[in-house]
Amino acid sequence: MLVIGAGGLGSPVLLYLAGAGVGHIGICDHDTVRVENIHRQILYSIYDTTYDTTGDNSDGKGNDNQSLKKADVAAKRIAAVNPWIKITPIVREISASNINEIIRPYQLLIDCTDNMQTKFLLHDEALHSKKDLITAAISLLAGEIHSFLYASNEEQANLKFGCFHCLWPAGHNDPDNISNKTSNTSISDGVIGFVPAIIGAMQGLEALKVLLKWNNKLRPDETLSVNLSSMEITKLYRVKNNSCRFCLLYQKKKANE
Ligand SMILES: [Zn+2]
Repeated sequence: MLVIGAGGLGSPVLLYLAGAGVGHIGICDHDTVRVENIHRQILYSIYDTTYDTTGDNSDGKGNDNQSLKKADVAAKRIAAVNPWIKITPIVREISASNINEIIRPYQLLIDCTDNMQTKFLLHDEALHSKKDLITAAISLLAGEIHSFLYASNEEQANLKFGCFHCLWPAGHNDPDNISNKTSNTSISDGVIGFVPAIIGAMQGLEALKVLLKWNNKLRPDETLSVNLSSMEITKLYRVKNNSCRFCLLYQKKKANE
């Protein structure tokens, strides 16, 4: 399986899936460890940065590019949890031009990224390449988990329950809209560390269920919505948006094949 984004969500996902003994874990993240993120990115410590714990850091050097790459540090850290599994760090920024090559060796993708543009990219490639995808997002004291099993659920692969774009109808063809949604729906500075810890742990558990082919897991038409303010967990039933451009284009393409 491949974890994309080794941050607040990716930290618990990687630690617990390594502990569970998942045979091969890829870690894709191009970013460096940053001091201001360590409170929620529990894979890392201040010693992975150039931050001087004893001196004056007013020049901001604690966050410069000399800090270690998150994928490399994460790989070492989870290898210390479980040295008997294969771990592949990938220090690359995922993009439209490299996504196919990066995800090819993996059957299950776990989207722990913090921006909507990458989430759409991962969703679309998961559908086209027939991969299972567990995606999660957090916002302040809430989180959501979606399961798109395009490899292991035929009905979902045929978009019977719609797609990610059905949920965000304006997102994929309006870059301004995507960036607005990024600030509203993703991990950003000021997030309390418990929130990605809880949502990431639930996301990782859901991924493990998919890997182990358990029957009891999120259904393909369900979104798990977790409100950590009121402590309510709700299942939202997704319905296909019949005017979703992405669904219509994909099904038209499939019909012509
Ligand atoms: Zn759709």
